[in-house]
Amino acid sequence: MTQGLSDRLESVRSAVADAAAEAGRDPGGITTIVVTKFQPESLVRDLAALGVRDVGENRHQEAQAKARALEDLDLRWHFVGQLQSKKARQAREYASVIHSIDRLSLVDALRSDDRVVDGFIQVNLTDDPGRGGVAPGELDAFAERVLATAGIRLLGLMAVAPLDEPARAAFARVRAMSDRLRSIAPEASALSMGMSHDFRDAILEGATHLRIGTAITGNRPVAG
Ligand SMILES: *Cc1c(COP(=O)(O)O)cnc(C)c1O
Repeated sequence: MTQGLSDRLESVRSAVADAAAEAGRDPGGITTIVVTKFQPESLVRDLAALGVRDVGENRHQEAQAKARALEDLDLRWHFVGQLQSKKARQAREYASVIHSIDRLSLVDALRSDDRVVDGFIQVNLTDDPGRGGVAPGELDAFAERVLATAGIRLLGLMAVAPLDEPARAAFARVRAMSDRLRSIAPEASALSMGMSHDFRDAILEGATHLRIGTAITGNRPVAG
């Protein structure tokens, strides 16, 4: 195992603790998901040996293959990328949490009378529908549909900060949407936001689930 990996993990852990202290929050209420997309299985094994339990992937085929190969590790797999409706049933087999529920067709595909998956509604903080996520104006109606769907336990909202705006301001908007969501779904109070470069801002705005890749793993190998 490389020293670099454990050093980076340690420094992210301490930066998370510092930001939590700054926000007056209990760091125990913040889950760090290490995003391992494009990284080899060996790196995921190393992370598990360092005490990581939550890992994230953004492509179904890669996630499914890794989750199968690493079944012995007792990891929680988080699906954080765009998910095609036709892959939804397969994804729920290995994923404990789906962070990217953003279309009605996906909500319908996740419906189940005998299994429950945890999920976040992804909101789009840009004006570009191609970025994925539900437009803020459509959030209430969309959330009602998710709440009425058997087989999904709604944890809260997920967002990716836009590139053309300070992250903190964008995360503050998600926090306001979360307040609104909690008026119809009091349990759905979690916030999946914050990546390598903006997790401090996310923690200051109430993030409960950080999705951190390169700050811990180092650079990703080029996509194949
Ligand atoms: C890749 C990815 C991350 C992690 O990004 P880093 O900048 O490497 O921390 C977080 N969330 C999603 C949705 C991603 O695709």
